[in-house]
Amino acid sequence: MTKPSLVVASRNAKKRREIEDLLAPYHIAVLSVTDFSDVPEVVEDGDTFAANAAKKATQTARFLNCWVLGEDSGLMVDALNGAPGVYSARFSGEGATDEKNNAKLIAELVSVPDERRGAQYLCHAAIADPSGTIRLTVEATCRGRIIREPRGSNGFGYDPYFLIPEYHLTFGELSSTVKQHLSHRARAFERLIVPLIGLLE
Ligand code: IMP
Repeated sequence: MTKPSLVVASRNAKKRREIEDLLAPYHIAVLSVTDFSDVPEVVEDGDTFAANAAKKATQTARFLNCWVLGEDSGLMVDALNGAPGVYSARFSGEGATDEKNNAKLIAELVSVPDERRGAQYLCHAAIADPSGTIRLTVEATCRGRIIREPRGSNGFGYDPYFLIPEYHLTFGELSSTVKQHLSHRARAFERLIVPLIGLLE
């Protein structure tokens, strides 16, 4: 029997790798938009993670005529009223990089005391069928705290500053195996996998 296939609509190589690893144990052939040469870039102009995830899934599914997973995620810092939120990837503006985004985050939190540095990562995933109709959505969070100096080089994005208090380690320090159990993405995919397999069968 051939494996059902699913295209991941993300151009972020490290995020895509995490998604591929989360889907690896299941009987699904996981492809990426970067496996196709001509998929148009999706403009992430939604006000919510849900809107952006749905847009990535729908537009890509219609273009490729196949099942697509759209994922949108980001960091929400309590003391910044939920910022950077949907703007996490481009927090520092035009030409944003992880380094510039982290520098802006730490500068904005410089006078915030340790006990008010709570934050969460949020992951929203949407599955579109080949017609572009959204058939399944899930969302999950992971709570942590933003520290002042970076620690560790695993993960990506804000991970070196995102401390998991229970472990006394950042996502930059924790192994990818542990992150793949605890993270917002891992928790969202736990909810996604059974109904997804039902849809693809
Ligand atoms: P998206 O590709 O538009 O969903 O952007 C997600 C952005 O949120 C990334 O570029 C990171 O800045 C941040 N982000 C989301 N998930 C993670 C994570 O697991 N670790 C670190 N940063 C993350």
